Amino acid sequence: MPIREEFRHLEPYGAPQLDVPVALNVNENPYPPSERVVADIAHAVAQAAAGLNRYPDREFLDLRADLAAYLYRESGAILRPEQLWAANGSNEVMLHILQAFGGPGRRALSFAPTYSMYPEYARDTHTEWIVGRREGDFTLDRSKALAAISRHRPSVVLLASPNNPTGTALPIDLIEAIAARTAELGSVLVVDEAYGEFRREGTPSATTLLPSYPNLAVARTMSKAFALAGARLGYLAASNDLINALRVVRLPYHLSAVTQAVARAALRHSEELLSRVGQLRQERDETVHWLHSQGLQAVDSDANFVLFGTFRQRHAVWQSLLDDGVLIRETGPDGWLRVSIGTAAEMAAFKAALEKVLKASER
Ligand SMILES: *Cc1c(COP(=O)(O)O)cnc(C)c1O
Repeated sequence: MPIREEFRHLEPYGAPQLDVPVALNVNENPYPPSERVVADIAHAVAQAAAGLNRYPDREFLDLRADLAAYLYRESGAILRPEQLWAANGSNEVMLHILQAFGGPGRRALSFAPTYSMYPEYARDTHTEWIVGRREGDFTLDRSKALAAISRHRPSVVLLASPNNPTGTALPIDLIEAIAARTAELGSVLVVDEAYGEFRREGTPSATTLLPSYPNLAVARTMSKAFALAGARLGYLAASNDLINALRVVRLPYHLSAVTQAVARAALRHSEELLSRVGQLRQERDETVHWLHSQGLQAVDSDANFVLFGTFRQRHAVWQSLLDDGVLIRETGPDGWLRVSIGTAAEMAAFKAALEKVLKASER
């Protein structure tokens, strides 16, 4: 096949999708929607189905208004519907950013370890990928970060906060300093808050910076805290000018009428869909504590997963857990593993399986 030369030996990205009793590998919310929410979503889909001979609303301003209202409730951000954008997952939203602001002769920059899809958006849009480093404790050094941005003059800077796979959030004053520097350089700053709802008390959302920085975009998703990974709805808040650039590159009618209906119905039930977030945060903090008690390192997390380690042979540890029916993620720096936070029963299974590995390695 005449595939692009640089793609010739590449495998498609993706975590293994295995049928296991305890799936703790892709940071989903483990609680499915209640019967009441299922019924309301089904009703909304039935209504949308009656008009499926027509293309959907290309501008989806009703959904964008609902998303703006949700962000006001969640982080106090005051946004007009025109300041919201959505697509099939926040991955697609961020690809739109690279399509609009990246491209040949342009650069995108982030700081590793971070989300493994960022270099793929760059690759797919012929944008040069520049990667700086986080510190050993996965924080970002302010002067090094600003220096890297000034030196490389990227068109797009991507910062995940809370970060995947480390779980660490960036201080808001650091995000603001980077927003200011990128504004001076005429660059776009994307703050990826896919795990925003899991942040600890007192960690503000970058949406609070939007009024001051027209070059800032804050990406969110309904896939994680919102318990709607299967619906594929990601979104982004930014200035009207930034959003207008994304409208140029989106495919016609990219957001189906069914997706719009499902998302709007789910947003009507945001309180219920998010009701487990507090419990998941508590389970997360307990998991960090438990891992420490086992003599392991575990990174304090603002997300719904924990990075822990280190293991000389992490693949063997990952495989032992899988043999016990517990699927976690082999990702992050060498020697580390990542576990998503599940139900109490799922976390008990994870702990039992890991204890077994730790005991065996003592012998
Ligand atoms: C999961 C995740 C996303 C969102 O994925 P979608 O399902 O496409 O919305 C975005 N960024 C990070 C860092 C993630 O971990």
